[in-house]
Amino acid sequence: MKDYDGDAGVLNRASSYALEYRRRVSRSRFYPDETALNNLLNFREPVPEKGSDDSAVIDMLHRWGAPAAVASTGGRYFGFVTGGITNVGLAASWMADAWDQNAALYVTSPIAATLEEVLENWLTSLLSLPPKTAAAIVSGAATAILCALTAGRNELCRRRGWDVRQDGLAGAPRIRVLVSEQAHSTVARAVAILGLGANSIEPLECDSQGRVRPDCIPDLDETCLVVLQAGNVNGGSFDPFEDIALRTREAGAWLHIDGAFGLWARACPSLSYLCRGAELADSWSVDAHKTLNAPYDCGVVLCEDRNALSASMQTEASYIQWSANRDNMAYSPEMSRRARAIPLWATIKSLGRNGIATQVEKLHTLAGEFARLLAAAGFEICNNVQFNQVLVAGRDDEETSRTLEGLQSNGEIWCSGATWNFRKVIRISVCSFATTRDDIHRAAAAFSSARSRIPARR
Ligand SMILES: *Cc1c(COP(=O)(O)O)cnc(C)c1O
Repeated sequence: MKDYDGDAGVLNRASSYALEYRRRVSRSRFYPDETALNNLLNFREPVPEKGSDDSAVIDMLHRWGAPAAVASTGGRYFGFVTGGITNVGLAASWMADAWDQNAALYVTSPIAATLEEVLENWLTSLLSLPPKTAAAIVSGAATAILCALTAGRNELCRRRGWDVRQDGLAGAPRIRVLVSEQAHSTVARAVAILGLGANSIEPLECDSQGRVRPDCIPDLDETCLVVLQAGNVNGGSFDPFEDIALRTREAGAWLHIDGAFGLWARACPSLSYLCRGAELADSWSVDAHKTLNAPYDCGVVLCEDRNALSASMQTEASYIQWSANRDNMAYSPEMSRRARAIPLWATIKSLGRNGIATQVEKLHTLAGEFARLLAAAGFEICNNVQFNQVLVAGRDDEETSRTLEGLQSNGEIWCSGATWNFRKVIRISVCSFATTRDDIHRAAAAFSSARSRIPARR
């Protein structure tokens, strides 16, 4: 019989393995080597007919799993836009998992419901959004965008006398979807899932920094669902919200701002100017697992019109026990789920408003320093480093690609690539609290060394 009542053996084993991983993460390779990847074959076995000893299960994860983990919690991981994890966030996550709370309803977890309600207020305040804005904690910005656009689509139709929830889209009033031509790919996917058709998106033209040009916005009316972004996923730039939001308000359109990582600029006094006017939108999506470095599986949808969000997520069944308190599932498409609020609450409680501002500013300062070091080493910086993203190019696409290959195979740092203004670039995202100045200097040296290893062309 297995012992489930708190026998500490396997838990202690896992925690010491986890701590060992954390201690060495910045000293090991930032991407698994061939051997570690080949060893993943150990997991490709048929369904085990017999069970295993629990310690052996955890040992197997430690032995073959840990070496194949990407060191994204270390200080020299600059890939995609990937946050690290703080000790307190990890610790709170462990507690939440030990409690195994189901965050669906107040009755299934009063602690999860209470913390989500607290966070709704805290996030609204930290991000300076309208008071009483509704928030739901979802798996990430992709889901947050889907929820917000559902609320927006349904509300625009409701105002014109059509109930999408009950009557569907056939015969519904037409919705025009206007999206930055540089929007994150998850926006078009949400539009497609919502039955609005990715092909019917009207792209909003951008300038060379990837910001929507206000002079290229067509006439707006009450049929328009407009999506802008705080933090271009490549260059990190911010759309001119104030100009455009005044127009969406006047037209009776719905404005969503996807600020997966960039909306946190609003929590930092020296950077909040980047998001001026973002409070005038109707809904926002933001991740906690990126800039804030909360553990993964944590994004937030915020919607000024609470009813618009909850009406679009409405669900009914005789066994659901609604309460007079907060019931989380009233605001998102999920029912059972983990209590994401617990690690998020701990992350914010530990940092406080000041700590968050300092950390966000530090990411920006380090990104600027990274860009200066690379420029001094003869690389070209292709974007204006407004926030935490740096786009780097060599003398031509070939040199850029070869440098990136060298960086990725060496393992000293990790970053990814993209295309920017028709050129290949290496994309750096400074997004982890673990990153230090020393990491930035080592990373810049790794760029020069990768370039110097490119074989001479014939
Ligand atoms: C990361 C990102 C998303 C998607 O967020 P997930 O947390 O991966 O779901 C959407 N928009 C932008 C701008 C992003 O950077």
